[in-house]
Amino acid sequence: MQQHPVVISGAGPVGLVAALSLAQKGVDVVILEKEDHIPQDLRAGTFHPPTVEMLDTLGVGETLRSRGLRVPEWQVRDRKEGLVAQFDLNLIADLTPYPFRLHVEQHKLSSIVAEALREHSNARVLFSHQCLGYEQDDDGVTVRVQGPGGTEEIRASYLIGADGAHSIVRKTMGTEFEGFTWPERFLVCATRYDLRAEGYTGNAYIADPDEWVAIFIQPHDGPPPIWRIAFPIGPEMDENEVLSMPFVQSKVQGFLSPEREYDIPYKSIYRVHQRVAKEFRDRRVFLAGDAAHVNNPLGGMGLNSGIHDAMNLTEKLAQVMLHGAPDDLLDRYHRQRHTVNVEYVQAITIRNKRLLEERDPKVRKQRLDELRATVADRQAHRQFLINSSMIASVRRANEIQ
Ligand SMILES: Cc1cc2nc3c(=O)[nH]c(=O)nc-3n(C[C@H](O)[C@H](O)[C@H](O)COP(=O)(O)OP(=O)(O)OC[C@H]3O[C@@H](n4cnc5c(N)ncnc54)[C@H](O)[C@@H]3O)c2cc1C
Repeated sequence: MQQHPVVISGAGPVGLVAALSLAQKGVDVVILEKEDHIPQDLRAGTFHPPTVEMLDTLGVGETLRSRGLRVPEWQVRDRKEGLVAQFDLNLIADLTPYPFRLHVEQHKLSSIVAEALREHSNARVLFSHQCLGYEQDDDGVTVRVQGPGGTEEIRASYLIGADGAHSIVRKTMGTEFEGFTWPERFLVCATRYDLRAEGYTGNAYIADPDEWVAIFIQPHDGPPPIWRIAFPIGPEMDENEVLSMPFVQSKVQGFLSPEREYDIPYKSIYRVHQRVAKEFRDRRVFLAGDAAHVNNPLGGMGLNSGIHDAMNLTEKLAQVMLHGAPDDLLDRYHRQRHTVNVEYVQAITIRNKRLLEERDPKVRKQRLDELRATVADRQAHRQFLINSSMIASVRRANEIQ
């Protein structure tokens, strides 16, 4: 049986970025995707500066920027009191050529990367091929695949599980997915009504003990852009009722104005988890992206950290496969990426959610006052941005041996 150097399970944004990075470095790669196309659903849509810089190194940053919206300022608000703090990424313009959050739908990145992959004869995407599991020995990994012609086996030197939150690669590895699931679900809808008319920046988090809200602008097929709005939904509510148009309309009206009828071209509800796989590596098999870690979307860190995984792992794999670096370099992938996921991505996204939903008036006031003080102090403001834009997490990962 032919042995492919690298097989990737999953052609989501993380699997595709990993594939492009490997192909450009000269490593042959096969991607298995269970769907018959690149998934187009509306999910993550925020790219932080280090991610945009990484995508530049793959030659796809400029195209992505041309399709996205630049959001240099974002806000924390209180639903009753209004603006609490406005953060301005221009304050860290000395640290990145891209001092903004780039807002663009993740499937646009997937399409751009898939297009770039077509120019590499050493990369192949096999659609309608579902990874069913694997076995590994000292020399490689045998991947079981359900393809259009039935079940087959594909042999690889290395396997990357980039097959999302329900990853079969992670399940086969048998590593724990440590963490918890929030009791409430997130309702996410979209409207074309321009929230800038209400004083919002392109991204804002609105604290409220009863119903926090998060908004972010997306280019969609615009102009005009659309605004995605997220609300928490109690565990007792029926999903069909939540997704009924009168209910969604009432949520948007409650947030904006009961006097208006808003157009709502999109709505969905989903369950939110904070989990990190205990191991990102088992000998020749690796986890990356949502297969390795999931978190709430408040702060826009999930997809970004998945892309950081892909870039980190593929650099090390190429060093080992092409340049004779020792195998234990690959253990550093787990140490670096696992550590920063726990210390930064999980910690920050959990803190963001708790800030928005805090019910104790004293704690609430204290936290919001801290944010007011942070933006008033240039150094503190910069440090806050270095953390929230994920520059700190990339730096920290690079320090870990
Ligand atoms: C409904 C929803 C909304 C979200 N909203 C946000 C948001 O607003 N902000 C944010 O930061 N993040 C959000 N996320 C998270 C974000 O979308 C993920 O972090 C991101 O998609 C991770 O990319 P990935 O490539 O690791 O996984 P995925 O995008 O899940 O891609 C996995 C790919 O693997 C394929 N696959 C799965 N199993 C197999 C198999 N066995 N064999 C072959 N292929 C397989 C899938 O079809 C898919 O193409 C959201 C997630 C969901 C589910």
